[in-house]
Amino acid sequence: IKEKHRNNYNLFESSISENFKMMLTMETELRKALKEKQFELHYQPQKNLSSGKVVGLEALIRWNHPEKGYISPGDFIPLAEKTGLIIEIGDWVLYEACRQNKEWQDAGYEPVTVSVNLSAKQFHQRNLVDKVKQVLNKTGLEPHYLDLEITESMAMSNEEDILKTLHDLRDLGVFVSIDDFGTGYSSFKYLSIFPVTKLKIDKMFLNDAQKENKAIVKSIIHMSHSLDMKVIAEGVETVDQLLFLAGVECDEMQGFYFSKPLPPEKLNNFFIEV
Ligand code: C2E
Ligand code: CA
Ligand code: CA
Ligand code: CA
Repeated sequence: IKEKHRNNYNLFESSISENFKMMLTMETELRKALKEKQFELHYQPQKNLSSGKVVGLEALIRWNHPEKGYISPGDFIPLAEKTGLIIEIGDWVLYEACRQNKEWQDAGYEPVTVSVNLSAKQFHQRNLVDKVKQVLNKTGLEPHYLDLEITESMAMSNEEDILKTLHDLRDLGVFVSIDDFGTGYSSFKYLSIFPVTKLKIDKMFLNDAQKENKAIVKSIIHMSHSLDMKVIAEGVETVDQLLFLAGVECDEMQGFYFSKPLPPEKLNNFFIEV
């Protein structure tokens, strides 16, 4: 029995160190990816439901690994967050999204906003507002063409500095949206205090035709409008979902039904069609 225990222990220990090794390797590879420009941004169009026009694009990072091919953000953002590398990656994302959006505008396409996902670490950087300001200056993108997506849990607390950051960003003229709304602990109290411009209803509320979900979506939209916020539904995959959303006066939608996230060169066509 003792022997067996020892083996289990060794097994456990070695799996920890395996894991740890894997994380170290991945960290090294992430650094290399940054240096060697292996990251790309793909963009998913956001459509206004009453005008039918594309009004925004969400930038979603992809890691184009030289051997492994495309790696999705869910598989490396958490580690990047843990190691702090998310700051450098996030800086690149912010700059690249603004640069690309300005490039499209300069090429004569109808201007749209670009939405950039911020991780918690990024949002809590002391110099975030300065960074955003610098990126806008450097790329020449006007602030009202940038939308920053933060999650509920990042915003829903009453800390003074969070409120200040949000106000400073709004004073700068950029938009702030709350992503994955409804998946965390939303506090309606904070929602009324925070100067955010848009709520993104999480796709889980569209997943099934449950009556309760429909009622929840309806009330989120109603509440947002009375607080002067817009609502976008994400993860729209079917025409039924679309019809429902249009019926309850949801402002915008985003999802596979309309378009997958696409690399920039594929979006050019998209714009022309619009
Ligand atoms: P998210 O911000 O909630 O992004 C929406 C995710 O849903 C994207 O996955 C998108 O491709 C996917 N999606 C879009 N339409 C549909 C649909 O109709 N059905 C379904 N089932 N899925 C849909 P993706 O690109 O794999 O990104 C996953 C998450 O990774 C994002 O969730 C976001 O939290 C994070 N992420 C992506 N890019 C960045 C980034 O540049 N910075 C940071 N910090 N996080 C990022
Ligand atoms: Ca998002
Ligand atoms: Ca989301
Ligand atoms: Ca999500």
